[in-house]
Amino acid sequence: MRNFTYTRADDVQTAIQLMSRQPRAKYLGGGTNLVDLMRENIEQPDAVIDVTALPLDRVEELPDGGLSIGSMVRNTALANHPLVRERYPFLSQSVLFGASGQIRNMATVGGNLLQRTRCPYFYDLAARCNKRTPGAGCDAIDGFNRDHAILGASEFCIATHPSDMCVALAALDATVQVEGPEGGRAIPFTDFHRLPGDTPQIETELRPDELITSVELPALPFAVNSVYRKVRDRRSYAFALVSVAAAVQADDDRITDVRLALGGVAHKPWRAYAAEEVMRGAPATAETFQRAAAAELADARGFAGNAFKIELARRTIVGVMLDLFERGEAR
Ligand code: SF4
Repeated sequence: MRNFTYTRADDVQTAIQLMSRQPRAKYLGGGTNLVDLMRENIEQPDAVIDVTALPLDRVEELPDGGLSIGSMVRNTALANHPLVRERYPFLSQSVLFGASGQIRNMATVGGNLLQRTRCPYFYDLAARCNKRTPGAGCDAIDGFNRDHAILGASEFCIATHPSDMCVALAALDATVQVEGPEGGRAIPFTDFHRLPGDTPQIETELRPDELITSVELPALPFAVNSVYRKVRDRRSYAFALVSVAAAVQADDDRITDVRLALGGVAHKPWRAYAAEEVMRGAPATAETFQRAAAAELADARGFAGNAFKIELARRTIVGVMLDLFERGEAR
């Protein structure tokens, strides 16, 4: 591991100043991904700025009924927060489906948004990887790609975003609040993560000198009728092959509003706008859900190891929507 300096910041402005003075620095939250990447020499910062002491560790109500989640809130605290469990149950579920109890106790909300892909070639310094070394090529395209993307991939990268939490946040139309040397700004959550295009090394809209301070959830009363389902190779401590976050509102078995997002299928949490469009105003039937899934997956493309994900995603979307209605949770 390369040598680096360690500094602990006590307030946001100090953290930003420290970062602006050291262009090859990294913010350290829970360290559950960054430290692994540093040990593997994938990330090699000159300086690490510990931001865990910043006063960003609270979940607070917003005047419109939404919530503001500080970026240093630990995943366990978020999942167990009474207002999150009550108003946004699929967000709580998504967090609890991620990683292990020990990791959730350490990991922060801000860090969760910035975690890197778990593509095995990204971690293998002997492999060709455009994300790690732009222009090197991508060994996953003709290699082991069971976990890789079926939507929005490019000839440069077919990696997936590994987060569960972010799938629910995409469905919720959350907003990411950031601070930098030029002040603060808000980034819509669905724009925060990028598709790979020809620059897979640039994963988010966050500038290198900006710090995530909070994630804001809008009020969404029908999010009480929501569920997160994760399909994976083993029951615990595995990343999603496919996941679905869904919230729905219905009137007499007609869908009046719906939110749907997919995980494990793209370089970013995938908001399923096409499926939502099919479902909004339609009867809550298996046929509607089949059409919605087909619309969302119309452009899906599989590779040798992951083509099964297209059918898996279709079945998971339909299954989640049927369950929401058959359990009576959507009325
Ligand atoms: Fe690298 Fe992306 Fe290819 Fe994986 S899929 S090897 S992360 S370029």
